[in-house]
Amino acid sequence: MTFNDKALAVRLEGCAKTFPDGTKALQPLDLSIGAGETLAFLGPSGCGKTTLLRLIAGLDIPDPGGRVWFDDQDVTAAPIERRKVGMVFQSYALFPNMTVAENVGYGLKIAGMPRERRRKRVDELLAMMRIEALAGRSIDQLSGGQRQRVALARAIAPRPRLLLFDEPLTALDAKLRETLRVEINGLLRQLGTTAVYVTHDQAEAMALGERIVVMSHGRIAQIGTPHQIYHQPSDLFVAEFVGLMNRVDGEWKDGWLHCAGGRIPAGANGVPGSDGPGNALFRPEHARLTQTERAHVRGTLSAAFFLGDRTRLLIDGIGAGPVTVDLMGPVDLAVGATVPLEILSLTSTSSPRETGVMPS
Ligand code: ATP
Repeated sequence: MTFNDKALAVRLEGCAKTFPDGTKALQPLDLSIGAGETLAFLGPSGCGKTTLLRLIAGLDIPDPGGRVWFDDQDVTAAPIERRKVGMVFQSYALFPNMTVAENVGYGLKIAGMPRERRRKRVDELLAMMRIEALAGRSIDQLSGGQRQRVALARAIAPRPRLLLFDEPLTALDAKLRETLRVEINGLLRQLGTTAVYVTHDQAEAMALGERIVVMSHGRIAQIGTPHQIYHQPSDLFVAEFVGLMNRVDGEWKDGWLHCAGGRIPAGANGVPGSDGPGNALFRPEHARLTQTERAHVRGTLSAAFFLGDRTRLLIDGIGAGPVTVDLMGPVDLAVGATVPLEILSLTSTSSPRETGVMPS
């Protein structure tokens, strides 16, 4: 985790949000963001990510009783212009009638920075975002990726103490999203500014968030590093929302899950608490083809996709739906073939929940 002495620490205490029409977008929650940390908010549509971001930005205030702290300052009622935050949205929110350079320098001009200093700072930012050549262009002459670079440069120009991103890459194509994701990551490391990044794309959250806040129905389902979220999900929702997860239902008995197609060992993770109905969770990369006599389960190949670095198999007859298994390299199996599988490890959801408070 990156910490930066000059960066801002943010803390939310008992923050809930109910809209005038009665919609309870956020249940009361606590959250701490470390100085210099990049935190990703991840969750399905409508789970409250944007509402939480707006409380931090000062675009909304929490229900009575909630508090927002910037370092040791209570900013609960402070409007956005007093919070010194930079924001980047999915819709670029650029000024169409200004050039790229004017857009980037806008906040500096409003803040009263003298022309010469402003010009230097704008040049520096255009170079940082590798858009120097576009300085004199108008916004409607830019591609989506270029517009988002301008929006980024404009957001960081006034050296905000906190950067807030709301799905900034959603409108871009997959390749460009990946390029900009890497650039934003580099930029945040270089600046050391505290940042919150809202997304419903788990790959983006994993790549950018030093910790990820997984949200569901206005609550925090789990907070943890990408590794913790992926390997020790707090519950079934997180397990199935982040990455692909196979769920096989059956009956636990003496450390084995008896299911359609065979039986799966609890293994080192020792998942079940007691014998009886239950399920086993495993990632596509945690199963492999084996000889028939060593197989834990057998199913029928319903589809195979060659993905370059791996082959993805969909196998029927084990779980309620098809089980997904990823194997390195090409696989020589015909649809309809019997597939004997060894399950290497299960994912446990029994890890203790984090509370939302930063580890000290
Ligand atoms: P998305 O990924 O689709 O943007 P989100 O996780 O950011 O979703 P929010 O925009 O925070 O979700 O919305 C949370 C809930 O609050 C949703 O049910 C939404 O319909 C509701 N909501 C948001 N803004 C308002 C509002 N101004 N008035 C009433 N309900 C609202």
